[in-house]
Amino acid sequence: MIHKNGTLELTNEAMEKYGEKVIKAISTHYQQLNNKKPVAISSREEMDKLFLEEVPEKPSNPFDVLDFVLDNVMTQSTIVAHPKSFSFVPGPSNFIGAMGDSLASGFNIFSGGWAASPAAAELEIVTMNWLLKIFGFPVVKGGGIFTSGGSMANLTAIVTARRIKCGDDFSKAVIYLSDQAHSSNIKAIRILGFRKEQIRIIPTDQEFKFGINKLKNAIAKDRLEGWQPFCLIATAGTTNTGTVDPFVSIAKICKQEDIWFHIDGAYGGAAILAKNGKELLKGINKADSLTVDPHKWFYQPYEIGCLLVRNHKWLKNTFTEKPEYLRDVEGNTSEINFYDHGMELTRRFRALKFYMSIKTFGLNEFRKAINYNIALAEKTEAFLRKSPNWEIISPATLAVINFRYNPINKRLTEKKLDALNQYISKEVVVSREALLVTTILNGQVVLRMCLINPRTTFKDVEDTINLCEKFALEGL
Ligand SMILES: *Cc1c(COP(=O)(O)O)cnc(C)c1O
Repeated sequence: MIHKNGTLELTNEAMEKYGEKVIKAISTHYQQLNNKKPVAISSREEMDKLFLEEVPEKPSNPFDVLDFVLDNVMTQSTIVAHPKSFSFVPGPSNFIGAMGDSLASGFNIFSGGWAASPAAAELEIVTMNWLLKIFGFPVVKGGGIFTSGGSMANLTAIVTARRIKCGDDFSKAVIYLSDQAHSSNIKAIRILGFRKEQIRIIPTDQEFKFGINKLKNAIAKDRLEGWQPFCLIATAGTTNTGTVDPFVSIAKICKQEDIWFHIDGAYGGAAILAKNGKELLKGINKADSLTVDPHKWFYQPYEIGCLLVRNHKWLKNTFTEKPEYLRDVEGNTSEINFYDHGMELTRRFRALKFYMSIKTFGLNEFRKAINYNIALAEKTEAFLRKSPNWEIISPATLAVINFRYNPINKRLTEKKLDALNQYISKEVVVSREALLVTTILNGQVVLRMCLINPRTTFKDVEDTINLCEKFALEGL
């Protein structure tokens, strides 16, 4: 018997064997994933047929359940760490991070309060200090919190901005963001109960950057009408094009107008580690709050997002429910209860994977990988520009590039081009050889590659472009 009765436990022997099998499956996946097909496509019917059942009352052999999961669950998910997963924002992850997460779950460490797990809180402080320093935020006065992802970090930022700038009455408060801001920001604004007339979507310029003149006009008009401009969300690396907003000009406006300056760097924040990162993200250190998303370009497994703030007291003043109950001393080096710095009380130990992977590889390996990613996108752009078949729609920016099939000798109509590029993407995905989907820029259907995987080679890109050309000829 490998089950122990009534305790939800296995025998020691079975537990050892089970654990080995799980770790073996994970490490084998890492060794073999480059040779697998990245795309999983299954319908609801197919999935229902495999998995739908009444809740089992009786036990099963644990090894049978594990084998079933390895065979049917793990194989039916897109491999976002695959070198040919080019779409959305891939999740290259890293093995050490995955092992760190396994430990965090295995030991089930409560990462809410200092008293429960001093080491977990300390590692969150330590890694947060690394990030504050990397981004040029004040280390002693600044602070932050790990969240499940960028969406939760943005929500945490806007709650904090509203609390600090508006207090209890936000009936006249207005928030500004560009038409390229990530959808999670609008979602957060809605969750917080702002009305439609409190949201200003500012059109971007030709390079998809925040339109400064339009922003100034909007703020001035709102002041005349008696609104309270309280928060602005700029983006470090838009999801579509990798575009970085003009932070220095925006910071100046925010300062003059007493507006909270939030930067959503969920995608592009990591580019701060590139060799010209300070130039690429110039002014990022001027934000009041900054979202970064380690489970994207800091190569961490899901889930870990992060919000950094210039002043840790802002979080505490927003999220602490019973300040008199706490015996924290002021300052970032004191004992912190992270449940007072964000929305969640019970929190998983997210700092561990980040800490372990940076300690293991060293930050310089992360720098190298990020430089490689940016250079790979630039090489891809140069390659496509040399071809008579391809048109660059948005040049390589922070490892994102948008292009479309548009052979110069064919003179295809816009309608035909949209249909053709949509067809190319569909066929590539159906072939399961690469995950390459479209986005819309200036009303045109374009193919988009996000090249943040350090295991992606130029040959992976070339092979995929060749595959696209093959389908393009079919679709013409
Ligand atoms: C991915 C992304 C988000 C959302 O982050 P999640 O981790 O998916 O919740 C927000 N903003 C930008 C710019 C992003 O790229």
